Amino acid sequence: MSASAPITQDVHTIPRKLPEGPVNLVGLTRDAMRTALIGAGTPEKQAKMRVGQIWQWIYQWGVRDFDAMTNLAKTYRADLKEKFVIEVPEVVTRQVSDDGTRKYLVRIAGGHEVEVVYIPEEGRGTLCISSQVGCTLTCSFCHTGTQKLVRNLTAGEIIGQVLVARDDLGEWPEPGAPKDETRLLSNIVLMGMGEPLYNFENVRDAMKIAMDDQGIQLSRRRITLSTSGVVPEIERTAEEIGCQLAVSFHATTDEVRDRLVPINKRWNIETLLAALRAYPRGRNSERITFEYVMLNGVNDSDEDARRLIRLIDGIPAKINLIPFNEWPGAPYKRSSNNRIRAFADIIYKAGYASPIRTPRGEDIMAACGQLKSATERARKSRRQIEADAGLAGE
Ligand code: SAH
Ligand code: SF4
Repeated sequence: MSASAPITQDVHTIPRKLPEGPVNLVGLTRDAMRTALIGAGTPEKQAKMRVGQIWQWIYQWGVRDFDAMTNLAKTYRADLKEKFVIEVPEVVTRQVSDDGTRKYLVRIAGGHEVEVVYIPEEGRGTLCISSQVGCTLTCSFCHTGTQKLVRNLTAGEIIGQVLVARDDLGEWPEPGAPKDETRLLSNIVLMGMGEPLYNFENVRDAMKIAMDDQGIQLSRRRITLSTSGVVPEIERTAEEIGCQLAVSFHATTDEVRDRLVPINKRWNIETLLAALRAYPRGRNSERITFEYVMLNGVNDSDEDARRLIRLIDGIPAKINLIPFNEWPGAPYKRSSNNRIRAFADIIYKAGYASPIRTPRGEDIMAACGQLKSATERARKSRRQIEADAGLAGE
């Protein structure tokens, strides 16, 4: 690194060095990549342009091999190859549901695994990505919440999930081909494992790449971040990311929300709603999504529906009703279809869109909150098989 290179990045954006190894270019912010290139000998005057070129190869054309970057001089490519790598998570398993939903188990550094789900819909396709391995929070209805946090994902591992999904969908255009507006992967939701606002910098850097014109090129309106309600970071989300916001609301009294979403004890419903009221919107059509898991006898009464309407009064909102996805040992049951419909009806009559989220990819256990349980169950049965076969060593 040249002595004059400004240290502009904070600890979270410093290029991740593999032990003794080269730096991974995937996930670096523009600034971080520029600094890394200069540090590796790229003349300062050229560095900005090189960043743009390399971003296009990686994020628009899906190239992982420096030799294919034909608008860079051969000697420069050889130089890059020595000092950098272009690495994405490794796909361990891939399952395709009868309804077209695809679920990937991907492995990241350290041997950890996270799940990524692609959901095709009419005219669009949504990728549900993870931000952490496990979660520090302990929402009582969520299986991820029963698992301790293992670690935060890096920005490269977060945006890398998008790259591997595009690989699998086979939608990388030929370099130089005109921009194709029809995208199989047109939307991203941060609704996989983890609380994205407890991994703010990495999520922000990854989503900046997703929204950049030389990156994945998705509009900020096509990216939705779901939070359990980390209030101080909500304002920062608006300022530093600017994507759409979904909030795991799930209850209409502090007493019940304390039990379901324990972060409510730190920032209660009133504080959360104040932050949501202040969340700026670029257009009138932009609304905050209130996620509401339907738990039998816990939060699903007519009174809850009416209280919910009163609470969110004045906030441009849509309410996403999620039938509870049960997992082994879960302390709740899913509300009946009639109850969910009655609840939805009250909300709809009050003038809010209240779609009931149909579980997708049920046959491959890809629904909300089931991701980790599926993996753990698979592991358990593998262990069981090994035990039965007398193979369990330790
Ligand atoms: N940690 C973030 C985002 C990940 S969870 C958050 O909590 O918002 C994505 C959504 O799935 C959240 O609304 C979460 O509350 C919900 N969810 C978790 N477990 C679920 C389950 N078993 N059934 C239905 N929805 C669940
Ligand atoms: Fe974490 Fe979200 Fe699950 Fe709560 S619902 S435990 S915040 S992943």
